[in-house]
Amino acid sequence: MTADNKFHFNTRAIHAGQKPDSKTGAVNTPIYTSTTYQQDSPGKHRGFEYSRTGNPTRENLEKNLASLENGTHARTFASGMASINTVLNLLQSGDHVVAGNDIYGGTHRLFTRVFTQYDLTFSFIDTTNLKKVEDAFKSETRLLWVETPTNPLLRINDIESLAEIAHLNDALCVVDNTFATPYLQRPLDMNADIVSHSLTKYLGGHSDVIGGALITNSEKLDKKLGFYQNSVGATPGPQECYLVLRGIKTLPLRMERHCENARKLSRWLQEHPQVSKVYYPGLKNHPGHKLAEKQMDDFGGMLSFELKAAKETTGKMCTATQIFTLAESLGGVESLIEQPAMMTHASVPRDKRLAAGLKDGLVRVSTGVEHIDDLKNDLQQAIDKAITD
Ligand SMILES: *Cc1c(COP(=O)(O)O)cnc(C)c1O
Repeated sequence: MTADNKFHFNTRAIHAGQKPDSKTGAVNTPIYTSTTYQQDSPGKHRGFEYSRTGNPTRENLEKNLASLENGTHARTFASGMASINTVLNLLQSGDHVVAGNDIYGGTHRLFTRVFTQYDLTFSFIDTTNLKKVEDAFKSETRLLWVETPTNPLLRINDIESLAEIAHLNDALCVVDNTFATPYLQRPLDMNADIVSHSLTKYLGGHSDVIGGALITNSEKLDKKLGFYQNSVGATPGPQECYLVLRGIKTLPLRMERHCENARKLSRWLQEHPQVSKVYYPGLKNHPGHKLAEKQMDDFGGMLSFELKAAKETTGKMCTATQIFTLAESLGGVESLIEQPAMMTHASVPRDKRLAAGLKDGLVRVSTGVEHIDDLKNDLQQAIDKAITD
């Protein structure tokens, strides 16, 4: 079953990279904890020598991820941030990076507070505006960093056009595909060079494992990424790899329900008398709706909204929910709620947040897979409690 890509996505989620164990017939990938591997003669090993360099459980996960993203190679890491760090390892001092102005806060921090120390420079712009992207490129620009949908405003970026701009400028286009997952969007098919993931979110899917991945179609890029993966050593443990493999088996089922619940919740919120604005790419009035329809298979499980009431009411609502847990992160089976200005995006200076359109009272929801009526009722009672309080 090497030609994995002849099967449908849902089949590959379960089987790609995961044949029954050749020794025992175990249906599930065993968790290989051994750090070192016997060699037949000095320097001659059977594929594995030391677990930072390569591990059988990790290898199965990497094969699986490569298949799901329609890539040829994948590398996994101890976290999404470790993956992103490894992409930046490809650059040299003096290089310039163009990135979205509403990228994940941790990515912004890594770029501006770690890599500026090594003489890399960064421009953060509205990547939905292709003219602005073209203008931001300089002769030393080597990387375009794209997220879509973005966090927390769910803006949609045009992957194919952005990759084209990057390539005309001799730069790599990297897409953080964490929010969409390969089930909904496959950036390599739209000419991106590398796909980056936080496996912690939808791919793991159960809020119980931290991990990251990089997937590419270029053997040359993969070799370089592999060199840094091994040299830096931020690799995931076999338990973590197993948990992600286990999570991915139900990715298609979970994503379908995440999308359905988010679609229903976004429509309900849009009609709600206490809600002033809803951000969800599946809504027809969302500015990125048409583009999302074109480059995604569905609109995902993330949405944001604003209440008409003062921002203090928002905080009270987020504290009064009984099913939605007030917490950062996203992509698990359980619904989460949070206020980005006070939580996930608190490290972004207020003027920058407001300039990017992120209001203090914005609420972000990671829609879980619970029953939709319970989710609606929970938000209703929380809004009622917050307003009468
Ligand atoms: C969570 C997240 C990351 C970072 O991943 P970790 O696994 O937390 O290190 C990067 N990008 C996006 C879009 C994320 O949501």
